Amino acid sequence: QKRVECPLDIEELGRSTWSFLHTMAAYFPSKPSQQQQSEVHHFITTFSKFYPCPHCADDFRERLKEHPVDASSRRNLSRWMCEEHNVVNRKLGKKEFNCELVDQRWRDGWKDGSCD
Ligand code: FAD
Repeated sequence: QKRVECPLDIEELGRSTWSFLHTMAAYFPSKPSQQQQSEVHHFITTFSKFYPCPHCADDFRERLKEHPVDASSRRNLSRWMCEEHNVVNRKLGKKEFNCELVDQRWRDGWKDGSCD
């Protein structure tokens, strides 16, 4: 039986968006040019204005002031994104994610081969 496709709720939107954001960070250049760094800044700033969950977007914009995007390398952007996500996890009472594992989760697959 075909599942009806419906508009996203706040949780589905969040899962899809984090999947995109972490994957984007996971494939960012290791040595980005100044232009690539400033384009990511611009992208995240613009994203924070249009994320279609107004209270999520408000909080995200506030956090960007205290914890600006670190786009100096793939590694630093991945870590920055992980830390941002952990702030939201804490706010929602969810478990924090170990940021040492972001590459396994979003790029390389788990070391035990379970994604091969
Ligand atoms: P999600 O939190 O969506 O995570 C998806 C997967 O990412 C997890 O299964 C895990 O494998 C991995 N993961 C978890 N934490 C990390 C991490 N730190 N680093 C890397 N990978 C990780 N919802 C609200 O109710 N209120 C808000 O204010 C709010 N703000 C948001 C702001 C932004 C910018 C975004 C993108 C989403 C926001 N959300 C908010 C949605 C919320 O974060 C979750 O996406 C939603 O609650 C669904 O949660 P989940 O438990 O399915 O997993």
